[in-house]
Amino acid sequence: MKLLLKLFFFILILLASIFIVNALLFTPKEKNIPEVTKIKINTDQVKNRLAEALKFKTISNQDRNNFAGDNFLAMQTYLKKTYPLVFTKLKVERVNQYSLLLTWQGSNPALKPVLFLAHQDVVPVPKENIAKWTHPAFAGVIDENYIWGRGALDDKSSLLGILEAVNFLLAEGVSPQRTFYLAFGHDEEVGGEQGAAKIASLLQSRGISLEFVLDEGGVIADGVIPGIKPLVAMVGIAEKGYVSLELSVTSEGGHSSMPPKHTAVGILSQAIVNLEASPFPTNTLYTDKLFDTIGRYMPFTNKLIFANSWLMKPLITHQLAQNKLTNSMIRTTTAATVFHGGVKDNVLPVSAKAIVNFRILPGETVESVKEYVVKTIDNPNIKVEGQGKNPSYTSPVDVASFELLTKTIHQANGQGDELVVTPYLVMAGTDSRHFEKLTNNIYRFLFNYTKPDDIKRLHNVDERISIDNYTKVIHFYYQLIKNANQTF
Ligand SMILES: [Zn+2]
Repeated sequence: MKLLLKLFFFILILLASIFIVNALLFTPKEKNIPEVTKIKINTDQVKNRLAEALKFKTISNQDRNNFAGDNFLAMQTYLKKTYPLVFTKLKVERVNQYSLLLTWQGSNPALKPVLFLAHQDVVPVPKENIAKWTHPAFAGVIDENYIWGRGALDDKSSLLGILEAVNFLLAEGVSPQRTFYLAFGHDEEVGGEQGAAKIASLLQSRGISLEFVLDEGGVIADGVIPGIKPLVAMVGIAEKGYVSLELSVTSEGGHSSMPPKHTAVGILSQAIVNLEASPFPTNTLYTDKLFDTIGRYMPFTNKLIFANSWLMKPLITHQLAQNKLTNSMIRTTTAATVFHGGVKDNVLPVSAKAIVNFRILPGETVESVKEYVVKTIDNPNIKVEGQGKNPSYTSPVDVASFELLTKTIHQANGQGDELVVTPYLVMAGTDSRHFEKLTNNIYRFLFNYTKPDDIKRLHNVDERISIDNYTKVIHFYYQLIKNANQTF
């Protein structure tokens, strides 16, 4: 007995030591940031050019028939006039009428091309929100610190930022070794099938294989993640899928004075209860990657946990599942959003219908979600139908392109606040998914410093970008092209 007790304490002390040592070793990974090429950006000029582009109502409405193509063409004429060097030195192709593909031909065919994606379209401004804007959404107002308007973040700062960077390099007389494609879709906000998808098929038909694709999708979180002091540059390496399944059931109907044990409404309600009671299984692949980087900047007590995930995994997973946001990062989510059934209080419903929306974690598919739903509701009388989008492929982080991105993000951030780059899972969809056949390396990141207050501006009232941030966007693309031109 005494021996057993001794052994027990020995193991306990050993375990505690391992925990503490692991936590002490869980420190930021060393980074070596080379010198940055300083460029002199004419702030007045670039801010005015962006503000001007925000005036074009290049809106994507859910109803695709409500599409003002002239606004897109007018913006393109404006871009051509504003960046004559870019539009004469690069090969310009219009794809499916409104999308643009610019090719900056490199001299060395052995180097795989790099593709930058941005979209021309913006989401509409609902009537009830028009008056809520500090400055009108399509006026392109610039004040002391900000450029205001729909598209300032999503995604014209990226589109114009890329053009400014290429323009700058052309003016410096650069002619690249590597080919760079600039792909500007026109319907990203409604799925990208007519724009980015067509550009991708065109490139595929030409037998092109890409080194990497960079699209929007991640930002630099500034004070957004509780307990993390440094800036966190979140680079999307995958995106979730999406499916809305319609569940429907029919029953006999009749007068409510002599009801069956379960009406159509009751049957369907039970199905929804079952679904909510059986959430999809968890997979912490993406949060593991996230905490392996940002966990190193957490207080010691948190480090004790994240540095010892080999043992603490169940506890970590349990904690992540308690929070809406982190829960959505570790599993396919289930959201019953619509329910219809019955017409009158004393008439038995002859049918009931519900829609349940699922955001699918990579690793699962629309089909596997359907199967899980059918199994969980366990009622052959309920029909389950619906189509959706599968999750994206997951891009690697142990490759040269990801390292290049990481390095460039540090360079563009400069000697300012401490910054950490982390891979993460994008919850929404981007145009980049259409390029999966052209490369494995698809990254989603926009060089945008995002404070907690800024998150709500996306697709919403008072979208804006700070002038200082916009110059850094340009610097980032400039440096990225320079780096990508030399390396690999
Ligand atoms: Zn966007």
